[in-house]
Amino acid sequence: MRRMRMKAITVMMCALGLSVAAMGAVPEHFQPRAKELLADSIELIPSENQLNVIYFVGNDREPIADYERRISELLIYLQQYYGKEMVRNGQGAHSFGLSMKDNGEVQIHLVRGKKPHTEYSYGTGHNPCLEEVNAYLDAVPGRRTSQHTFVIMPTHYDEEYNDLNPGGVPFYGLGTNCFALDYAHFDIKHIGQPTKEGRLLTKWYGGFAHELGHGLNLPHNLGTASDNKAHGTALMGAGNYTFGFRPTYLTLASCRILAHSELFVSKGTTTKFYTQVEAPTVETASFKRVGDTLELYLRTTPEVVNVNAYIQDPPFEVNRDYDAVPFPCSMSKTADGKTVATVSIPLAELIELKNTEGGAMALDVLIQTNEGSRFRWRVPFDLKNVPADGSIDMGQPVFRRGY
Ligand code: ZN
Repeated sequence: MRRMRMKAITVMMCALGLSVAAMGAVPEHFQPRAKELLADSIELIPSENQLNVIYFVGNDREPIADYERRISELLIYLQQYYGKEMVRNGQGAHSFGLSMKDNGEVQIHLVRGKKPHTEYSYGTGHNPCLEEVNAYLDAVPGRRTSQHTFVIMPTHYDEEYNDLNPGGVPFYGLGTNCFALDYAHFDIKHIGQPTKEGRLLTKWYGGFAHELGHGLNLPHNLGTASDNKAHGTALMGAGNYTFGFRPTYLTLASCRILAHSELFVSKGTTTKFYTQVEAPTVETASFKRVGDTLELYLRTTPEVVNVNAYIQDPPFEVNRDYDAVPFPCSMSKTADGKTVATVSIPLAELIELKNTEGGAMALDVLIQTNEGSRFRWRVPFDLKNVPADGSIDMGQPVFRRGY
C-alpha cells in the first residue's frame, strides 16, 4: 500500500518543493524581523519530497492567532538553518522540503480532531492524534507529500498551562513523526532577545528544531570535543536549550544521515525510501585500540552508503544517550562493489565522557542504506581491558532497526 501510494505522490509532487530562497524574495507580509533573519537566505537545491506539516486542534479549540504566518516564518528559518549546516558540513545546499503556498507561506494543513483537545494530550499519547492525521493525509491522493509528518498543537490553557508556560500536548519525535506545540508568543521576532518571551522561544523553538531532527531520522549526539569548541552545542545534544541564543550546530554525522533521507534528496530522485527490512550483512568488522585512538573497520554489502560510529558512557538507552560522540566513517567501495567504512577515533575527542580511563562504554555502529533505513549495532567495551594495540571483541552483529 505504502509503496503504491508513494509512487503516485512522487509523480504528483514533482512540481512542488521550491524553497523561499529558490522562489525569490521573502513574502511581503512577513514581519520585519523575519525579513531581516531571512535576508541572507541561501538558494536551496529543490527537494523531491516535502514534509507534511499539520496544525491539529481538538473540536473545542481554535488555532492560535496568526499561526500560518508565525509557523511559516519559523519553519522557513529552520529550513535555512538545516540547509546552511548541510553546506558547512560539505553535504550540499539540501534541506528538508516544504510545500509552499502561492503567498510564500508554508502549506500547513489545519486538521480538526473529532474529540475535545484533552483527548489529544501528552497523557493520552500521540496515537489518537496520529490516527486522525493519517486518515486526513490519506483521504486525498497527493495530499501526503512524504512519509515524514510534523504535528503542531496549541498549548493547553488550564491551571497549569498558558502562553507563558505552554504545554500539555505531545512533544517528541518518534520514527518519521514528530510533535511540537504552539503558543501566542511563538514568534521568531523574539529569537535571541533577553526577555521572558526570548528565553521561552529558545526553549520551545529549540525543542521544535530538535524534535523535527528526530522526525527527520536523527538520533541524539553530543559532538566531539573539537566540534563543540569550534561550533557550540550540537542541536541533537542539548542544542534545544541554546538554539537562538548561543551557537548551535548539526554534526557531520547528523548531516550525513540527512543526506540519505527522504526529505533531503534532490528533485527527480526516484528512490522509494525506508523499504529495506533486513539489516545489511557485515562481512568483516574490527575494532581496535591503537595507542590513543580507536580504529573501526567494516566491510558490508553494497547497499550501505553511510556508517556513523558513536561512543558513549552508560546509560545507553534512548533519551539517555545525549552524550553519544559521533564519528562518521570514510566510505569506499571494493573492486567487487562491497562497501568499506573506516574511522579513527582519537580518545582526546571523548574528554566529555567519564569512562575513558576504564569502565563501561559502548560503540554504536549506525549503518544507513541507500534508501534511508538505519540499523544500529551496539558493542560494549571497557578500555582498561584492552591493551594498547589490542582488539575489542565486537561479537556477532545484532541490529536494531531505526534511529
Ligand atoms: Zn531528543
